[in-house]
Amino acid sequence: MTPRVAVVMGTRPEIIKLAPVVEALGPAARPLSTGQHWDADLTDVFFAAVGMHRPPQPVRGVGGRDRADQLALMLTGLTDWFRADRPDAVVVQGDTNSANAGAQAAHHLGIPVVHVEAGLRSHDRAMPEEVNRLVIGAVADVHCAATAGNAEHLLRAGTPAGAVHVTGNTIVEATRRALPGPGKRAAVQAAHGVLAGEYVLATVHRPENTDDPVRLQALLGSLGGLGLPVLLPLHPRTRAALLTGGCLVPPAVHCTGPVDHATFLALAADARLLVSDSGGVQEEVTVLGKPLVVVRTSTERPESVDAGFSVLAAPDGVLEAARWLLRPGWAAVLAGRSSPFGDGRAAERIAALTLGAVRARRPLPLAVAV
Ligand code: UDP
Repeated sequence: MTPRVAVVMGTRPEIIKLAPVVEALGPAARPLSTGQHWDADLTDVFFAAVGMHRPPQPVRGVGGRDRADQLALMLTGLTDWFRADRPDAVVVQGDTNSANAGAQAAHHLGIPVVHVEAGLRSHDRAMPEEVNRLVIGAVADVHCAATAGNAEHLLRAGTPAGAVHVTGNTIVEATRRALPGPGKRAAVQAAHGVLAGEYVLATVHRPENTDDPVRLQALLGSLGGLGLPVLLPLHPRTRAALLTGGCLVPPAVHCTGPVDHATFLALAADARLLVSDSGGVQEEVTVLGKPLVVVRTSTERPESVDAGFSVLAAPDGVLEAARWLLRPGWAAVLAGRSSPFGDGRAAERIAALTLGAVRARRPLPLAVAV
């Protein structure tokens, strides 16, 4: 009998990073959506891009609520769903409230939990994502760490060595698959009015940057002073913050709505520089071989910094970091450097580990187990 593996997705990056796992699981995969991101530009567009129908959504009205309400609603909704559907394993990814609720719901029902992108640590418990990581790490049965450093965090926290696997990060294969060829990239750049190598691509969505109008304005000012046109696809939270904060957008900064993944990668691949506070973008630049200023005080992805792709900066430190990353010769070095996040086969490994966990849980009938 085909096993049933629930794959919980709530946000844009979860759809991007779990799509290769869903594909590798084949008929065993049972994707679920929590609706944590509810904007069609952050969900439907991404499901459609990977050829997935909009999955069942066992819980309603989660998007836009505060953290406690989101967790409570999702824990209840997913528990009811798992109780009725009885999946053989549940896969969650990363550090969102959806992943936390999915992992807990499965664990409390005795269903094996597979954590994709396990073992990231910022060591900053003020970040809700860090607490989600710690909770998921405590209840997961199979920990799929992207890097040896991530695995080390789990082992140091006492996770049994047999449960920790270094798989790589599925963003590597997701990026390679979604990146358009040169012709399509040129068309995307033309549609956005930019020339290859002569623009900056920026994103900003983390609350510490969007919810403080002074900080957000400082960041916009730095972007406007880079001396190149800046494309800024706006996350819905950032668009709202710009309006309520009364921020002034410098003329060099061109705001758009959020773009689909292929469009984002087409713009990222030929940008001179990226500026972002995103987690996933820190990984993608290592696949694309591009320099990135990370507008944060800390990162749970030091691999991107250690490999020379990324530099952390405060909003008023973006120009200095950009000068460092754009120093002569560095672009060519990065273009030839391989990603520290894996070889593009993470999803196959994760699918194999998941199906292995299902088999370990349900002994096969003797006739089959030869
Ligand atoms: N992304 C996208 N369109 C955009 C902005 C970002 O497809 O307009 C992708 C980006 O390529 C990356 C992911 O969204 O794969 C990152 O998501 P986000 O920054 O929202 O979340 P985080 O990675 O910080 O959790």
